[in-house]
Amino acid sequence: MARAFSPFACPVCRHPLSWSGRCLTCFGAVVTTDRDTWTIPGDRYELEDGHWRLEEKGPRPVCTREQNQQAIAIVGAVYRGELPAEDAEMLLGLVLPA
Ligand SMILES: [Zn+2]
Repeated sequence: MARAFSPFACPVCRHPLSWSGRCLTCFGAVVTTDRDTWTIPGDRYELEDGHWRLEEKGPRPVCTREQNQQAIAIVGAVYRGELPAEDAEMLLGLVLPA
């Protein structure tokens, strides 16, 4: 069974990072209440054949509030049956560029 947190520590607060590189304690920011300064401080790993493989190096910026709201609207449209999931994946790729 995969562990929820990676063995790596957040460079800001030293709490364990998630395998996606996110810190769920400080959000990669010194002032956690200021969303505009949030980051993804660590590297992103994905599980493949039982092994965690490096997919993307950190640190990376988080999405903007506007991108987040657009993505929530797309997911909501799928949930309500107004948009096919395949179309939503394409739209999410445009709203949330890698
Ligand atoms: Zn942290």
